[in-house]
Amino acid sequence: MAEKIFILSDSRSQTPAPAIPAILETPTGRVTDQLARPLHDLRISVTDRCNFRCVYCMPKAVFNKDYPYLPHDELLSFEEITRLAQVFIGHGVEKIRLTGGEPLLRKNIEKLVGMLSALTTRDGRPLDLTLTTNASLLAKKAQSLKDAGLQRITVSLDALDDAVFKRMNDVDFAVADVLRGIDAAHSVGLGPIKINMVVKRGMNDQEILPMARHFKDTPYILRFIEYMDVGASNGWNLDEVIPSSEVVKRIGAEMPLLPLDPNYQGETAARWRYADGGGEIGLISSVTEAFCSDCTRARLSTEGKLYTCLFASGGHDLRALIRAGRSDAEISGAVAQLWRARGDRYSEQRTINTSGLSGRANKVEMSYIGG
Ligand code: SAM
Repeated sequence: MAEKIFILSDSRSQTPAPAIPAILETPTGRVTDQLARPLHDLRISVTDRCNFRCVYCMPKAVFNKDYPYLPHDELLSFEEITRLAQVFIGHGVEKIRLTGGEPLLRKNIEKLVGMLSALTTRDGRPLDLTLTTNASLLAKKAQSLKDAGLQRITVSLDALDDAVFKRMNDVDFAVADVLRGIDAAHSVGLGPIKINMVVKRGMNDQEILPMARHFKDTPYILRFIEYMDVGASNGWNLDEVIPSSEVVKRIGAEMPLLPLDPNYQGETAARWRYADGGGEIGLISSVTEAFCSDCTRARLSTEGKLYTCLFASGGHDLRALIRAGRSDAEISGAVAQLWRARGDRYSEQRTINTSGLSGRANKVEMSYIGG
């Protein structure tokens, strides 16, 4: 079946630099938004390029040789990323995830990992530092990432069947190579390792059970992600979403499951464990059970725009502040002001309004902002 392609409108450059508040403040330690949600996690996209062309994320018809990827000098440098990370830590961030595009494609990514792993939380604890990858370069880089201070890793894998996986990544990448990357990460001590599977009805939902069987009784935590209406290039349709409740039903019929409490408030995945002690799975249900009310995540795009929601259509240009020579206190004040103004709850509103098609136009692409 041919993929539907929606040509995206480029919302990357339409954002002004945020205002600097008149009264500057020292790091708040904790800042909350309009819905009383604290700023706790920062996801940093380190490249808008990827070597996969997953049909639901970076379809070839859009992300081809004519696509205007960001030139290198538009990307935040490692020093700029680290400086911003420090500002966010000052407002309570304790967890940082590197993403992309494919983060392992960014040259010398280990150097950035080293710079970030040297930072600590406000009260002196190590940051929770992790990275999401398609694992294509993981076997090669696992040891150097671990040596640089990375603690754990999340790997995306949408099928065990090679033909299905290759149809989804659209670059003929083999499942065995992803599994090799996962094993390499495990053997160097990156963990716990989470495996993310995006489930799209009619494309890979027949892989739910094989994936569950494969990762049961292993140290790896398999998480099923509802196919989301991010961006504008994948032609999202509600009919293609398999609700997490259906995933639990399908797995539970063969391998009984019991619900688990969340590890912490705001955890994205609902947890279930196998009744026979064979480990746990996670369900990320941003379409059918939106978790906006607990969302404590800020996202920094590849060229330094702050997005306060995965489904936002615009970001706030923090790089403009850095490159205009603003001080840490000024940038810190701007970030606190932006977070306090945050009222986004797109997924909840979509759940209320959805009649089959996603409503908001100009949503930013997942490959640009990271997952
Ligand atoms: N390249 C890295 C990777 O493959 O994990 C990191 C970036 S990728 C954009 C992050 C995650 O977003 C992946 O797990 C991917 O499957 C997921 N993703 C992309 N588009 C999605 C969509 N429309 N719905 C749900 N998840 C999506």
